[in-house]
Amino acid sequence: MSKNLTRICPAILAVALLLPEALPQAPSAGSQTAQRESDAQAEPDRRRRRPPDPFAGQKRIRALVITGGCCHDYAGETKILMDVMASQAPVDWTVVLETEGRATWTTTKARLYNQPKWSEGYDIVVHNECYANVDDAGFVRKIVAGHNGGLPAVVIHCAMHSYRALESDEWREFLGVTTRRHTRQHRIAVQVKDANHPVMKGFPLDWVTPMDELYVVQKLWPGAKPLASAVDPETGTEHPLAWTNEYHGGRVFGTTLGHGAATWDDPTFQDLLVRGFKWAVDRQ
Ligand SMILES: [Zn+2]
Repeated sequence: MSKNLTRICPAILAVALLLPEALPQAPSAGSQTAQRESDAQAEPDRRRRRPPDPFAGQKRIRALVITGGCCHDYAGETKILMDVMASQAPVDWTVVLETEGRATWTTTKARLYNQPKWSEGYDIVVHNECYANVDDAGFVRKIVAGHNGGLPAVVIHCAMHSYRALESDEWREFLGVTTRRHTRQHRIAVQVKDANHPVMKGFPLDWVTPMDELYVVQKLWPGAKPLASAVDPETGTEHPLAWTNEYHGGRVFGTTLGHGAATWDDPTFQDLLVRGFKWAVDRQ
């Protein structure tokens, strides 16, 4: 069945985001004659008003977003990501959003990963999926194989709890962290750990998130370096919440923040994603 697989046409949406003034406008009140006269001049006027492409001459970035599963607003989050990136870099998006019903939404095996060389042709993959109870080692190896050539990635929130039912660590080595649970929701006081890293440039030193989940990080893998962390108020244990990882020579940026709309709507979180994306694909 394909009814649960949604693909957002990247070219149309990207153009809409970059050039909203070029979209058709609703006709205003006035006579039809006046409208026709206006229409006669509209096209050349629109062409003259169209601003120059701020990314002219730059190589476009081919980005794949894989999203869906349990517990979050994946369509809304993807729209925000595309929206905030639109003014930052020339990105052509492909979005694969796969969510089954609640009974199986933690065990969904996104069909894309069954395609041979599923990541071929992309410059970066954003993993924002939430399939916690997939425990098929062969399947997860297909996923990480897509990054074995050093393909960059951004990994967000529940991606860190995806495939956690699998005991072996292929996915977690790729992420750079091992985590299997989170704290109760609270406003998280973020501590900057590497203010000089490009991803953290301009990040406030005293940011407290909206209500969110602090993921309990059991292990930071050898290739990972923390960028920001927070202390679990119940245990006093500090956990990285933003980091970089090196996986097979490729750059991975990760953050465990992003449970709800309040965080996704926050400009500090949005800017963190933008800088993380640009760093991962080496386009600061
Ligand atoms: Zn969550």
